[in-house]
Amino acid sequence: TTRTRASAQPLENADELISSVETFIFDCDGVIWKGDKLIDGVPETLDMLRSKGKRLVFVTNNSTKSRKQYGKKFETLGLNVSEEEIFASSFAAAAYLKSIDFPKDKKVYVIGEDGILKELELAGFQYLGGPEDGGKKIELKPGFLMEHDEEVGAVVVGFDRYFNYYKVQYGTLCIRENPGCLFIATNRDAVTHLTDAQEWAGGGSMVGAICGSTQREPLVVGKPSTFMMDYLADKFGILKSQICMVGDRLDTDILFGQNGGCKTLLVLSGVTTLSMLQSPNNSIQPDFYTNKISDFLAPKAA
Ligand code: PLP
Ligand code: CA
Repeated sequence: TTRTRASAQPLENADELISSVETFIFDCDGVIWKGDKLIDGVPETLDMLRSKGKRLVFVTNNSTKSRKQYGKKFETLGLNVSEEEIFASSFAAAAYLKSIDFPKDKKVYVIGEDGILKELELAGFQYLGGPEDGGKKIELKPGFLMEHDEEVGAVVVGFDRYFNYYKVQYGTLCIRENPGCLFIATNRDAVTHLTDAQEWAGGGSMVGAICGSTQREPLVVGKPSTFMMDYLADKFGILKSQICMVGDRLDTDILFGQNGGCKTLLVLSGVTTLSMLQSPNNSIQPDFYTNKISDFLAPKAA
């Protein structure tokens, strides 16, 4: 859906934005940290927002860690954030299966890293695959038939640095041989920024492989899909118009906020530059933009 929106405005009156909402949803990478490095002024900004009684929620499309593992990361960075405030796409995959009452006697085949397994485990689902299948090879002897577990009722695909042909074939068999099998993607980010030096192939590449072989489209639980926004609004009993979504990426974070009918703030501390925002090729316009979230403390036009 394309809607004509006014061009994003530089955030000139942060206090006005802060008082107009009750909840801030922060994207993580590019907003709170960059890789393993805390972004300038974040602890003070979060403290200030809490002192004003704002609810803070943290959402990340990075499915490699569970919310518990993210809790440790926040702690290591010296941030006062509890697990219950963190919503990663790994958690979202498990929450989605719970929300549809996915049967506990069925299994989930995972293409992805540890975070997804941890969340499925915690939610009480049976799973197979994940890192364990990373070293597996298919030996094509004459007449070889690859077997798959027929109890698999869902395939969950996320970013996976141990992705291989075995996983593609296994996931494809599960989906193709069982028309009722769900195909769930944690996220479809085209690129990630594992290092500053270049852009790396993102979770969308692993998801794309399974789309290609199955000719099916996944249900996406991460940003910009509405699942997490609906889940959060429901869980905390908040009106989406009372939320400000803060992110560094237009096609995930800002769209996520806009799809939910929230206020949106783009920060330029991550992957999006001012010229990308203002490019005629970009149709996604947040309400506001600013350099980094600590501009909330000393409001300044970006
Ligand atoms: N997926 C992976 C594998 C990543 O490494 C990252 C960022 O580091 C992301 C997704 C995007 O994370 P976020 O939604 O916090 O920006
Ligand atoms: Ca981000």
